Formats: sequence, structure tokens, C-alpha cells
Amino acid sequence: MFLLFGTSARQALLTVVVFACRFCGQAVDQQVVRRSTRVTLFFVPLLTVSKRYHVQCTNCGGVTDLTRQQAEHAQEWAARRG
Ligand SMILES: [Zn+2]
Repeated sequence: MFLLFGTSARQALLTVVVFACRFCGQAVDQQVVRRSTRVTLFFVPLLTVSKRYHVQCTNCGGVTDLTRQQAEHAQEWAARRG
């Protein structure tokens, strides 16, 4: 029997917040992104094995890793300012 396992990664833009980037120092849009890695069987996603969050500067592209709590906090913060 032949089984074809693999992984797929998917990025989702959660929200955009504005604050001073720690790399370039500019107060520009920072994209809060969730990246999930899923195990696939015959290219069909079965389960999510990891979820990671980061924020990426739209000016310089600098990436900072976030915890899930920080990403959720950023979403709440953006929603309040809405
Ligand atoms: Zn930057």
C-alpha cells in the first residue's frame, strides 16, 4: 500500500497594527500573521501540527516572532481602535 504524506504551510493575515518598528524605527503598518503547518495525506490536510505567529514590518520587512497571546492582544487592540 502506498501512502503519500506531506506537510503544507498556510499564512493568514490576522490584523494590521501601527507602531514603531524595532528594525527601521518607522511608525508604519505591521502585519500580524499566523503561519500554520499541517500534515497532509494525499495532499488533503489532516491536522495542524504547529501554529506560529509573527509580525512583519511593511516598510523594511523585518520579522518579529510573537506568542499566541501577543497575536491575540494585537487583534483586540486593533478591534478596539477599529
Ligand atoms: Zn521596519
